[in-house]
Amino acid sequence: MWRRVRNLQPVTIAVVVFTRDLRVRDNPALAAGCLAQHTVPLFVVDDAVVDHTMSANRLGFLADALVDLDASLGRLGGALVMRRGRWVDEVIGVARECGADVVHLAADVSHYAQRRRMALSAVAQDRGIAVVTHPGITVVPPGALLTGSATPYQMFTPYYRRWQVAPWRDPVAIPNAVSLPRAVEPGTPSVVADVRRPGLSPDVVAGGESVGLGRLRAWASEDLERYEQMHDAVADDATSRMSPYLHMGCLSPLEVAIRLRDRPGGAPFVRQLCWRDFFHKLLASNPALSWTDMRRRGTPSGAADEAFEAWCAGRTGYPLVDAGMRQLQMEGFMHNRVRMVAASFLVKDLDVPWQFGARHFMSLLVDGDIANNQLNWQWVAGTGTDANPHRVFNPIRQSQRFDPDGAYIRRYVSELADVDTGQIHDPSDVERARCGYPPRLVDHASAIAAYRARLETG
Ligand code: FAD
Repeated sequence: MWRRVRNLQPVTIAVVVFTRDLRVRDNPALAAGCLAQHTVPLFVVDDAVVDHTMSANRLGFLADALVDLDASLGRLGGALVMRRGRWVDEVIGVARECGADVVHLAADVSHYAQRRRMALSAVAQDRGIAVVTHPGITVVPPGALLTGSATPYQMFTPYYRRWQVAPWRDPVAIPNAVSLPRAVEPGTPSVVADVRRPGLSPDVVAGGESVGLGRLRAWASEDLERYEQMHDAVADDATSRMSPYLHMGCLSPLEVAIRLRDRPGGAPFVRQLCWRDFFHKLLASNPALSWTDMRRRGTPSGAADEAFEAWCAGRTGYPLVDAGMRQLQMEGFMHNRVRMVAASFLVKDLDVPWQFGARHFMSLLVDGDIANNQLNWQWVAGTGTDANPHRVFNPIRQSQRFDPDGAYIRRYVSELADVDTGQIHDPSDVERARCGYPPRLVDHASAIAAYRARLETG
């Protein structure tokens, strides 16, 4: 659809709807939208998402990212137009307000994102507005790679081999300028203020493309080279901490992968980005995996009872598990190694369905991501891909191995701050009583024997 203005030149107006691609660098939807004469960069605070599925930590991060994006678009001569309400109605409303004939957005993978995009396309079609989706959420688009027999990959390792040699798209340049049409009112800061919620974790990181890029540069120059060697050393905090920036799209996963893959230490780091792609791909083709087992493994008997509450509160009596759960409360983040140990403890030692743990993680994680969170939980529970139900993490041995001096435990479990290293991984009853640290909720060996017996009987 063309709109004619005073000089009778046809004018194209494009709306670019940001979702979780909150950046100007390597943003294919934005780049495509800026080929039009006028562009409306739009973010709609979706009531359905904000009110029901997003934690205070992620909302705070989102608000920071929107402020930063608005500033970046401002430097290009534009602004971020913000609305709040029913997402489809608001997008169509803005498109009609400014006479746009096309809406660009990044393709996403969750059930909700896919349904929302389809609803938009249906309504837009009735009004003669085209909806065009673009890559940008992953390095390689979900569904782009198939096995030799043209079937989707189900296992990580063959997918990774293929992913490494597959042609990746070229990153797109930042647009030279963003020209807003006059008809549209930019958003107001009140929309952003409205997104923030009380109850942030005290040490949660700030969001935004600028912060993310700064952290990436600093981390890559200091720690990339030793990533393989150090990524499991939980006290050293030597991983990139890029996950929230990748989740909200403040950083382009493709650009990160291209920048780092050939540098010393880059290959093992970029392999982790492939795990991220792999889980996004699995979820895109089967969105039900967000809450249902990929492979059934019986029905756990546990529930949201006192044991679950003790796990959430970081009072299981297993110091590494408790340190992780308290890191989660303090920072909205947990080290990957400890996520695996804490998740295994909930599912295998306490026999609680993985969905309970996944929901609790989502309520606090600043990087909380349906694909990565739910499918990692399934991986640990043995219900997912690469499923090995016999994989069990011993919380004491993991602690001795990955936090040998107990520095991570002491940082987060204040009661244990002055306990000797010899006792830190599993204090004696006397030491626990002295420090006010709880007894073990269950005996790990007996709990795992019971878990194995349950596996045998199906
Ligand atoms: P780095 O080690 O620096 O890795 C770089 C990037 O690779 C990460 O930022 C992340 O995007 C990706 N990545 C790393 N490990 C994994 C992995 N196992 N699976 C998928 N992608 C990975 N990650 C999330 O982004 N959101 C979640 O909600 C989430 N929930 C998890 C729940 C459980 C039970 C487990 C075991 C893992 C979960 N992970 C999740 C994966 C992983 O723990 C985090 O991505 C990682 O700890 C983030 O820290 P980092 O950025 O320093 O990672």
